[in-house]
Amino acid sequence: AKTAGRDRYVIFDESMYADALQEAEARLRLEQALADDEFVVHYQPIVDLPSGRLIGVEALVRWQHPERGLLGPDTFIGLAEQTGLIVPLGHWVLAESCRQVAAWHSDVPGAEQLRISVNLSARQFQHMDLVADVAGVLRDSGIDPGRVVLEITESLLMRDTDATISTLRELRDLGLHIAIDDFGTGYSSLSYLRRFPIDILKIDKAFIDGIATDPDDATLAEAVVQLGRALRLQTVAEGIENVDQHSLLSALGCTYGQGYLFARPAGSAQIEALLRHSDNT
Ligand code: C2E
Ligand code: CA
Ligand code: CA
Ligand code: CA
Repeated sequence: AKTAGRDRYVIFDESMYADALQEAEARLRLEQALADDEFVVHYQPIVDLPSGRLIGVEALVRWQHPERGLLGPDTFIGLAEQTGLIVPLGHWVLAESCRQVAAWHSDVPGAEQLRISVNLSARQFQHMDLVADVAGVLRDSGIDPGRVVLEITESLLMRDTDATISTLRELRDLGLHIAIDDFGTGYSSLSYLRRFPIDILKIDKAFIDGIATDPDDATLAEAVVQLGRALRLQTVAEGIENVDQHSLLSALGCTYGQGYLFARPAGSAQIEALLRHSDNT
């Protein structure tokens, strides 16, 4: 329930009240989880196509819930966005994953070039301190900003164009790279690809699923890869699950790939073992 101005009534029914109460409770629980260090970052390898060489990892947050076990982002990211808690949570994910990858850069032979991709929600983007915040994290972690990718979604590019362009410019001036996530699923026009300072297109899994079986999907994926090349952007195919998809995307000239075929997201210890045992040179 909202607080009323002096001369105004606030009308609410009991279900609105119950919703507000539930949201307040959920927010408290999420805040507590953050304070208690219950969130963990898992990392999913991103590989070079066609070689399959590991070139980077995407940070994907999980909640190690004391009673319910390991929870995926689909169970709490929406709520975190709704309540605004995504701002401190997103900050934590960025700081934790930059710290981890900087440690791998210096400790694991051959991993000096490893990239880290971090998801940024629209809510974080609208937050005034984003650029200063990101700059602070880069500085504190000591990571080479050139190894950091921030993933944003198309929907973000649709609103507030001028402000968005200038924030993206400022972020890129820090030396990091910008990727458009879930590319092709939004409703925006393609013209924003020229206007927005971006480096990477991530082709949504929805287009990759049918690529080896559905000629229309294959045509669409090919169009996106060509678009990327024409605009001098790197392309990353998401959700590659089988070798047919892999060879097709390699043949199309897609730059990078990510998916269960190569590796599922895993905790830092497992990823470190992978880094130590793969030939990264
Ligand atoms: P996303 O950014 O599109 O991340 C890719 C999702 O696809 C991940 O799900 C990943 O585990 C899954 N995936 C990767 N390869 C395959 C595959 O071959 N097959 C299938 N079926 N799935 C695959 P996850 O980890 O459950 O994350 C879901 C979404 O939650 C992410 O989608 C992202 O939008 C959001 N998310 C995760 N971590 C963060 C975060 O730190 N901040 C924000 N704002 N959002 C996050
Ligand atoms: Ca992503
Ligand atoms: Ca995605
Ligand atoms: Ca997605």
